[in-house]
Amino acid sequence: MDKFFEGEPTEVTDGYRTTHDQLTLIMQKLARHGKDHEFSEFVNGVENRWPIDKTIHIEDINRDLFWWTRAWSRLLNIGEIINPPIASEVIFDYVNDGRNKKGEIIQISNHQRGLAVDFGGGKDLMAKAKCVLAALQSRECFIHNYRVERGNNCVHADCDQIGGGTG
Ligand SMILES: [Zn+2]
Repeated sequence: MDKFFEGEPTEVTDGYRTTHDQLTLIMQKLARHGKDHEFSEFVNGVENRWPIDKTIHIEDINRDLFWWTRAWSRLLNIGEIINPPIASEVIFDYVNDGRNKKGEIIQISNHQRGLAVDFGGGKDLMAKAKCVLAALQSRECFIHNYRVERGNNCVHADCDQIGGGTG
């Protein structure tokens, strides 16, 4: 799809992520915002390398949650938008698309399904978005959706699966 980026320096800054990669990203963002010590279950989970699918009982709210759910929800709450490593409920206020998604289940990222790439580099995200839109509209590039992600300084593109079959 190079031809659509003529004159706009661009790199693929992210692609396939494992469940573990996604959790690592969440940890990095929490640390960057100084929010990585807010919840004791999250601190414990990081220190003891708990499995990502481990749930624990949280007394204050009488709920069983993944040990990272509240910490991840805090990121959404402060405007740092990222998918959970496993589909999970939003615990705190999170307004997006004009409504509060608190209490809703957010699914995993298309990056974890191998169906997304991020385009970064250069200085002009809007110029890059135009390139991605042109690639999308050409229908030559397996892209069916895109969005500008200022926090990640990239243009995210959701891709079609290539090939495949009935599995
Ligand atoms: Zn992305």
